[in-house]
Amino acid sequence: MMQFIVPEGLALDNNNDYENCQEVCVKLEFDKDGNPQVKIKNATPYLISTIVYLGPDEYLQSPQFFPQYFVINPQTIASIKNIKVKPFDQSVSGVVTRKYSSKFSWSYGDYRVKSSNFAYSLPYEKGKKYRVGQSFDGEFSHQDNKKYAIDWNMAIGTKIYAARAGYVINIQSQYKDAGTNREFFADKDNHIRILHDDGTIASYAHLDYDGVRVAKGQRVEQGQFIGLSGNTGYSTGPHLHFDISVPQFVEEGISGVTIPFSFSNCQMQNFIPQAGIDYESC
Ligand SMILES: [Zn+2]
Repeated sequence: MMQFIVPEGLALDNNNDYENCQEVCVKLEFDKDGNPQVKIKNATPYLISTIVYLGPDEYLQSPQFFPQYFVINPQTIASIKNIKVKPFDQSVSGVVTRKYSSKFSWSYGDYRVKSSNFAYSLPYEKGKKYRVGQSFDGEFSHQDNKKYAIDWNMAIGTKIYAARAGYVINIQSQYKDAGTNREFFADKDNHIRILHDDGTIASYAHLDYDGVRVAKGQRVEQGQFIGLSGNTGYSTGPHLHFDISVPQFVEEGISGVTIPFSFSNCQMQNFIPQAGIDYESC
């Protein structure tokens, strides 16, 4: 007789209620030969990226099989089949148990996108001009995984408009303060994150306290009013931070990385805003 033990470690997200999963859930099943199959259910209405690991390696015939990376469409289940495990030792009598362990992380978006060719519109009112404080590779804070980002200096309360259509996947508007202590302020900015149809995500950051005018899950169109700029989080003064990112797999699971993108100017040409220059929205 064989037993296959599903460890608690697999219950990373609602695993106990896979059938009624609200977000993203995983389940481990076994066929009659004892080969495991991992199912990942994306119950959200959005595209997601996932990383899945099943172990320990000593049970698997091909340990390099994991981790596996997936992009899963909205309301879809992905299965990892053909996982071959090492045979049980037939000379051992009685109950043989194997304890599997698993790691699983997910995030909205498509990790495979490396750059965005879309012609984004400037995220402020038509006819208005604002000066870029920091462009791509800006010394103060546009480095490493935040390299591809643009800051526009603008007064608190300036109206912000969606640069591209998509679904609002994240909002934050409870913060009031700003400062240059990176450790303290890094995760304390108000923002709106919008998932585009190609799996890229726009961030509109450092928004005003109570300055979000869209709801999570809402579809917004390009040019739609979405909120008010501010000065919250890790910031030296009132400005709007804008970037395009995709999920990125890291040792601890999944985070985000910004990717190159460009805007459309008044002559319908693509351009990358440069620091110290004013740009008019069209
Ligand atoms: Zn910035």
